[in-house]
Amino acid sequence: MNLAQAPNQTSQTPETPAALLGRVRIVLCRTSHPGNIGAAARAMKAMGLTRLYLVQPLCAVDEVAAARAAGADDVLAAAPVCASLDEALAGCVEAVALSARLRDLGPVAVGVREAVGPLLQRSAEGDVALVFGNESSGLSNDELQRCQKAVTIPSNPDFSSLNLGAAVQVMAYELRMAAFGGLPPALATPATPFSSAPAALDEVERFYVHLERVLATTGFHDPARPRRLMPKLRRLFGRAALEKDEINILRGILDSIEKPTGPRWRGTGADIEPIEK
Ligand code: SAH
Repeated sequence: MNLAQAPNQTSQTPETPAALLGRVRIVLCRTSHPGNIGAAARAMKAMGLTRLYLVQPLCAVDEVAAARAAGADDVLAAAPVCASLDEALAGCVEAVALSARLRDLGPVAVGVREAVGPLLQRSAEGDVALVFGNESSGLSNDELQRCQKAVTIPSNPDFSSLNLGAAVQVMAYELRMAAFGGLPPALATPATPFSSAPAALDEVERFYVHLERVLATTGFHDPARPRRLMPKLRRLFGRAALEKDEINILRGILDSIEKPTGPRWRGTGADIEPIEK
């Protein structure tokens, strides 16, 4: 199901991915290193998350945090400092614990993707949270008990603990993928492509006629013994999904081989264009 189209239970209006991500709290419990708080903020902002909560941080949110946030200072500045996990989870309808090790008495263990999709669905009803532990001791049993599910990010069994900021990054990425129904736009600012419009099939056919003629002239292709050359070249160019500019370049190259017949293309190199269509 594409969560972005999931109806909001109250308003029946489609949820945008940004609205879904906007209801996810990233809760860091008893963090020791300001750099990890900054890294978490950066990881969040890069994936479209904004709601950072700090529970009893054991360090200041200082210039080291700001440096690691690398532009996500707004996420840092907006992060409430909470006296308890209960305070950070107030108003939430679901909390998922992140734990490198599963404990006997912890909440039910689920996979990353099993957790993230349903969590976003629950977000139609209210805020939801991912809860991360302290760098050296992880989450306490009390903190784990506050959560309804526990997730362990699959990792090397002999070296299973990720850096806190890296663990936030993995989960933020998975949330983004789920919020966009698996198809998030790849870039915030799309690159300006130098591609041109796709070539029409008739333009491509004229290119094949031209190519076959030139290859026969040069002796590379023997029309009497074609040895499936043209079907193979069609497969090759078919995979390339040729654009108009590319057809122009290829036909210009063929013209340059066929020179005695005179140019039907003006310009040189990538700027070549047909004199007549
Ligand atoms: N030494 C701690 C790990 C702390 S890492 C321990 O053994 O629990 C800091 C936090 O990052 C963890 O509390 C957890 O929330 C998150 N984290 C790190 N690696 C993880 C993993 N493989 N799966 C889930 N969460 C992880």
